[in-house]
Amino acid sequence: VDERKPKFLNDRYKQKRGGSSYLITLFCAHCSTQLLVYQKDGKGSLIRLYLDRIIAPKELTELQNIFHFSRIPPLVCPKCQRIIGAPMIYAPEKRRAIRLIHGSFLKKKS
Ligand SMILES: [Zn+2]
Repeated sequence: VDERKPKFLNDRYKQKRGGSSYLITLFCAHCSTQLLVYQKDGKGSLIRLYLDRIIAPKELTELQNIFHFSRIPPLVCPKCQRIIGAPMIYAPEKRRAIRLIHGSFLKKKS
């Protein structure tokens, strides 16, 4: 992925959220370790991370390929092991996501 010129996924989910996207980087609130880079669609606060919008790192982009929902691990800081979020299914779209724990992460718009 060329970080300067991200190629955003553009699909019905994005269109439903107004058609605009930006990149956001998440860090652990406890130890400041960088957790992931994410394509945020539309405005509004970051409540959950849809698995198909995680851009990096590779281990996390592969979560969307896990067949059994029950096998999707919680999102954990790789350094301090604190839990950042837990797998969920966003029912209105039947879409897999990570529900973020409020206060467990910091974010930076890029
Ligand atoms: Zn941490």
